[in-house]
Amino acid sequence: MLPVVTESAGAMLLPLKATDCGVPKTPLPRAAVHARRERILSSRQTRPSAAHFSTHTMPPQVIQQRKRGFICVNAHPEGCRLNIERQIGRVRAAMPRVSGSPVALIIGASTGYGLASRIAAAWGLGASTLGVFFERAPKNGTTATAGFYNTAALHEAAQREGLLARSVNGDAFSDAIKRQAAEILHKDFAPIDLVIYSLASPRRIHPRTGAIHDSALKPVGEPFSSRTIDLKSEKIIPVTLDPATEKEIADTIAVMGGEDWRMWMEMLLAEGLLAPGARTLAYSYIGPQVTWPIYRDGTIGRAKQDLEVTARSLDAMLGSKLGGSAAISVNKAVVTQAAAAIPVVPLYLSILLRVMKSDGTHEEPIDQIVRLLRDHPMAGRSGLLDAEGRIRLDALELAPSVQSGVARIWLETTSENLYERTDFRGFKRAFDNLFGFDVDGVDYAAPVETDWSW
Ligand code: NAD
Repeated sequence: MLPVVTESAGAMLLPLKATDCGVPKTPLPRAAVHARRERILSSRQTRPSAAHFSTHTMPPQVIQQRKRGFICVNAHPEGCRLNIERQIGRVRAAMPRVSGSPVALIIGASTGYGLASRIAAAWGLGASTLGVFFERAPKNGTTATAGFYNTAALHEAAQREGLLARSVNGDAFSDAIKRQAAEILHKDFAPIDLVIYSLASPRRIHPRTGAIHDSALKPVGEPFSSRTIDLKSEKIIPVTLDPATEKEIADTIAVMGGEDWRMWMEMLLAEGLLAPGARTLAYSYIGPQVTWPIYRDGTIGRAKQDLEVTARSLDAMLGSKLGGSAAISVNKAVVTQAAAAIPVVPLYLSILLRVMKSDGTHEEPIDQIVRLLRDHPMAGRSGLLDAEGRIRLDALELAPSVQSGVARIWLETTSENLYERTDFRGFKRAFDNLFGFDVDGVDYAAPVETDWSW
């Protein structure tokens, strides 16, 4: 289910230009942007800090984790706050703060890879960030979604440290949200140096046709049989997935392919919101052979192929108009809300966590995005690209030693030895952590405020 669009999401601000970009408007000079940023930040000095982020309309409450099936339906704000602080700490330790303050737009900025991108850009590159995402606010004593609390905590930390952060909560696929983002960018940010596209969504309402596209996680061409963990009974069970229909393939491409990324980039270019040399990145996954029928060769893989085709055409467009570029970064499998929903992946991830932790090569999204922004072109270095020009953050996951370990444990694992052979415990904890639960340092018996905002 998609969250409900917030009131602000419906605001109609700027008319969108046609998608044929023509000659882009001239972006504001960098000095003018910096002066404006300084004005915005200094006008905030008078505002109260931490407490400002809680609206205090509900009494504090003790929050116990509630699950429906394996999906967690609430979130713990203090756990989310500590997750943000921990990620900021990881960036500080790994990235020397560079001079300059680029502007970054992150689409899908509230959880997973997009959140990590926002934190690494802000705390590692000193970037002003505009984050776009779709999260549920707290209401009548029910908690917000984790991405909402993550964002409130991120704003609080950014304000404390003089980093400019703005957020737009609503359907990024819609014209209204693109307009809202453009308006904020014109007012407070432009020109943008980096756009990261990190949406993972089950559904898209097409902004031109109004059609509803539901993505499917299915094989293409023939049925696929494998094993997975039934997350409720914690048993290894056989799973057979029927092949997708042509419509399911097309719908998945419409949701997770490149069309919406293109719409964002064309809008930003037409609005004159991109800086000379602007870069854009979108994230993909390839993974090992054991997951190919359901991932690389399945419906989602078709969507990722479309994303790659889009990257090439955006690269040509940005190159010719601004001397900029577009690329795909292939990231490693990690425990995120989106990944846990893919059949086979929980078992694969539980084994992968075990192998990479014992190898000392385990990474979370924040560790990879630090590498991405530190070692790849944003930092002025060429980085290691594969033959298709993709950035490969997944090399550690795909190392032959890691994959042979995964293949061996895959064959050995049964329901009886699941906890012993794999790191299923670590998988479950990482999953609970996403919602702010089972986070070290949180007193879960203490009542907490739930009405946060930013
Ligand atoms: P995630 O579920 O943690 O985050 C998805 C983000 O998209 C959230 O910020 C959410 O609010 C936002 N979002 C969803 N629908 C939206 C909408 N309609 N409008 C606005 N925002 C919306 O996902 P993730 O796992 O971090 O995946 C992000 C990207 O990284 C995807 O392209 C995914 O394929 C890719 N990737 C993921 C993995 C993995 O193992 N998780 C590995 C490699 C690549």
